[in-house]
Amino acid sequence: MQEASAKDRLADVRADIARAAALAGRKADEVTLIAVSKTHPAEAAVPLIAAGHRDFGENRVQEAGAKWPPLRAAHPDLRLHLIGQLQSNKAEEAVALFDAIHSVDRPSLVAVLAKAMGKTGRRPDCFVQVNIGDEPQKGGCAVAELPALLAKCVAAELPVVGLMCIPPDGQEAAPYFALLAKLARRHDVTGLSMGMSGDYESAVMIGATHVRVGTALFGERTS
Ligand SMILES: *Cc1c(COP(=O)(O)O)cnc(C)c1O
Repeated sequence: MQEASAKDRLADVRADIARAAALAGRKADEVTLIAVSKTHPAEAAVPLIAAGHRDFGENRVQEAGAKWPPLRAAHPDLRLHLIGQLQSNKAEEAVALFDAIHSVDRPSLVAVLAKAMGKTGRRPDCFVQVNIGDEPQKGGCAVAELPALLAKCVAAELPVVGLMCIPPDGQEAAPYFALLAKLARRHDVTGLSMGMSGDYESAVMIGATHVRVGTALFGERTS
């Protein structure tokens, strides 16, 4: 009955997104639900694919490279999103594998991504990850460094479509989502990758275009 339960969870999350979007006067189809399958085996994604779901998220290039090529061969319309930190030496592999990269966070990565795109001819959508709570140890560029990093992306002709954030743990996420939305408006980008299992409805109300949901779809991660 694993299959029915994954499908039911998908239907529940979709219904939540539709409700939150309606409350905010938005259309549900303005929001891409990224099913974050990291740490789960490829088989876990199969029932969602069968139910018509197409967008999946992984946080490690190596894991995604081992898991997804057979599924993509069977379903060429799948879209893979990299949501985890990207090491420069994996940039070319990431560009070859992913359709969107949500973790552009530093000037040196912009340069290697641009080079990898030139070499492979692939141009995945890019989101600049912002360390929205300015937390030490947290991924993403500092809020104060965002203008310079975006300028660097423009100069390198990176296809930047939006901003991404992970709000600080244990705090109300909405103010951080609102800040990310404001930064996106200020810099004229429209994509907002924000919201996870615990807060995707609030993210949708504040304008998320991409929510990244793992646990609510696949259950708790064991690793
Ligand atoms: C794991 C992860 C998610 C999904 O988290 P859940 O709480 O399981 O929904 C979303 N975004 C990023 C960047 C992640 O690493």
